[in-house]
Amino acid sequence: MITHINPSAKIPIETLVILLLLFHMIRKFLAMSNPDGYVRLTKETFNLLLESNGGVCLECKEIVYDIDPEVEGCSCPSCGAKEVYGVAQASTMGKIELVK
Ligand SMILES: [Zn+2]
Repeated sequence: MITHINPSAKIPIETLVILLLLFHMIRKFLAMSNPDGYVRLTKETFNLLLESNGGVCLECKEIVYDIDPEVEGCSCPSCGAKEVYGVAQASTMGKIELVK
């Protein structure tokens, strides 16, 4: 018996979870494949982060909002490493590379 795939059928939640996990792993992999430690930001993002007290995690490159701009080494909500620095601080440390 041939089973037809009904295009209007709902995607099982398991599939969505797996896709989400894959997406997360790919993001982590991309972050790790940037081992030189630079966080690459556009100038717009950099300025936005400066204005909004943003910071970056030097471990996983995650952008973190609402932190003290002078903060050094606070815990990352994404990877848990104590590598979150305010953008101004990270920039002073030469850890931010501005890209187009
Ligand atoms: Zn992190």
